[in-house]
Amino acid sequence: MKKKTTQKKDTNAKLLKFEELSWKQIDGLEREKTIFFLPISPLEEHGPHLPVGTDLLTARDSAVEAIKILNKKHPELTYVMLPSVPIGYCKFNTDFPGSISTSGRVVRDIVYSVGSSLASHGFKFLVICSYHMAVGHLKGIYKGMGKVMSKYDMKVCEPWGPYFHNNEVEKREPKLGFDTSKELHAGFRETSLMKYQYPYLVDESYTKLQSIYRDLNSPAVLGKTFKQLGLKDGYVGSPARADADYGRWFFSETVDVYVKAAIALYEGKQLPELPQKIKLMMKSLFWQ
Ligand SMILES: [Zn+2]
Repeated sequence: MKKKTTQKKDTNAKLLKFEELSWKQIDGLEREKTIFFLPISPLEEHGPHLPVGTDLLTARDSAVEAIKILNKKHPELTYVMLPSVPIGYCKFNTDFPGSISTSGRVVRDIVYSVGSSLASHGFKFLVICSYHMAVGHLKGIYKGMGKVMSKYDMKVCEPWGPYFHNNEVEKREPKLGFDTSKELHAGFRETSLMKYQYPYLVDESYTKLQSIYRDLNSPAVLGKTFKQLGLKDGYVGSPARADADYGRWFFSETVDVYVKAAIALYEGKQLPELPQKIKLMMKSLFWQ
């Protein structure tokens, strides 16, 4: 009986959840050796077949999995999961029930508030985990990160944006015989991911959904909502092609990106950056 209790304690110690700690326990964490993870992505429609929490669940689960690996690779460091923040900018598909969009400013303020609250107590490392790649959302995250780093001695990174927007997925994924770069929202990639992670949350109707493509980065679609673009079911891509094996690869890729970023952040190494094109789009985008 006694042994069992100790084992449970050990397992819990591997994944520290911020909300379960007292201020005393948080104060007891080594400032120079603790890395915090903050999942932040909006709840938004993901086609008729996927849950609105697709991005948030993926960001959180990848961070949890990354922490498990980091605990083995670098047990000398401490990793803390902050609660997932279901907030983000996704104005373009708010014409579907289930999408909850805030302005990029709100995202910026949340990232800054979390970062500065930790940094003002001497903590040094924060990894922002977002799986939602809309430029308006990223603008909020990067503005918040920049503000934290300019005011405090804290290093903050957001690893998935640079990976995704530098087309690393297309460069590294297994060859599939079709153009996956058009799978922009709730299409092949995300449906595969959810088929792997949460098969019971994927509506079987996905096998009957026809492929629909739109270039969401073209100036012609700027300011238009999904329904105005004729995306009546709220997905862009080919969900019917979904494959759980690809989902497994994609998920482990996300985890790997977080693991590498956390170590690079801790070691003070240069992290991959968003491409110039995205930085310019962020600059030219007004807060909405
Ligand atoms: Zn998504």
